[in-house]
Amino acid sequence: MPNPDLAKLFADNAHALPHPSGTPVRLVQFDTSTMPPGLRDEVESQHANTLGEIGTALVNLMETSGYHAVTTQQLDEWTTKAAAFDGIRPPIASIYCSACGDKLLDLNITRPERINTRATTLRSVRCQCPEE
Ligand SMILES: [Zn+2]
Repeated sequence: MPNPDLAKLFADNAHALPHPSGTPVRLVQFDTSTMPPGLRDEVESQHANTLGEIGTALVNLMETSGYHAVTTQQLDEWTTKAAAFDGIRPPIASIYCSACGDKLLDLNITRPERINTRATTLRSVRCQCPEE
């Protein structure tokens, strides 16, 4: 599902896309700025569905082409979190054989309350000691 917030942003601005030059790119078929107020409301409501579909299609094009938009706030939060972990190795939980004490497996702890691993990894853990 294409990001609905981004699709709405495209749809809401399709009539005059902000360009970095400062001069908006006007898609005249969607520009109602010169219409009288009564006609403007009517035409804008007629365009709403089409603009919504165009916005959704643009986001779909981006996302199926490998691009994903994040807000500046999300990017700042992730950058801050990544910087906090820079150079710090994730904590490891080690599993030891209760019979002989040999280490059997290390698992990365991605969050304090969570370890992600495949079930096949856990099922394959075997110790070579006679107690196994
Ligand atoms: Zn053992």
